Amino acid sequence: MILVVNTKSKSFHGILLYRKNYRERDMLVKFFTAEAGKKMFFVRGASKANFKMAGDILPFSYGTYEGTLKKDGLSYIDSANSVKHFNQISDDIYLNAYATYIMSLIDAAFDDGVPNSIWFDKLFYALNLINNGFDAQIITNIIEIQLLPIFGVAPDFKHCAVCGQQSQIYDYSEKYGGLICQNDFHLDPYRMHLDQRTIYYLCLFSVIDLNKIENIKVNEVTKNKLRQVVDKIYDNSVGLNLKSKKFLNQMRKWEIKPN
Ligand SMILES: [Zn+2]
Repeated sequence: MILVVNTKSKSFHGILLYRKNYRERDMLVKFFTAEAGKKMFFVRGASKANFKMAGDILPFSYGTYEGTLKKDGLSYIDSANSVKHFNQISDDIYLNAYATYIMSLIDAAFDDGVPNSIWFDKLFYALNLINNGFDAQIITNIIEIQLLPIFGVAPDFKHCAVCGQQSQIYDYSEKYGGLICQNDFHLDPYRMHLDQRTIYYLCLFSVIDLNKIENIKVNEVTKNKLRQVVDKIYDNSVGLNLKSKKFLNQMRKWEIKPN
């Protein structure tokens, strides 16, 4: 029996996740496509100086491309129709580090080749917000919190994880994998001892629609706490080991921040 493979070129929407050199002059470029999920593309001659699509596969590119999306193995790009770049992100090492981390998280969270328009949109909105000057740490925290269920950590941000009741005062408990109410604080001496403002933002971030954010301002103290609690959940309950996260942590130590 001969299997007929459809190799017809077609148009697709893609956000470039990362690229790496392959052999001497070629490149492997990973896109999150709206039509077919994450796909790895083989781009012949991409490392050559006069490569005609060089501008279309720069880091932080997104747009409409023509190519062949293979079910298995490497896909191919023939041409680019309308490609834009998140310029502010590529020009700023600080924004660059956050955006790269978000993309590597999304790459780690989902299997290749599975269409996922919800997360394609979320990634686009997140990068767009960062590119437009919204607080990169806050946008990153929103993505991290909304990805938790995908990583199998599904905190309930509406009820106490012990008694199921709703409460005015909560804390986060890693032991119970979510919020616990004041009445149950004694059950976990290692609860995170968070203030209610931080809890408020954790709950908000779990449901906020990135497409509807117009303005978000969180003070530095709360931002630091949010970062600590999200890092703790990721370190202890998710357990990824991403290079992009190490770089981000390193960068914070150098305190390279925009003015
Ligand atoms: Zn309770």
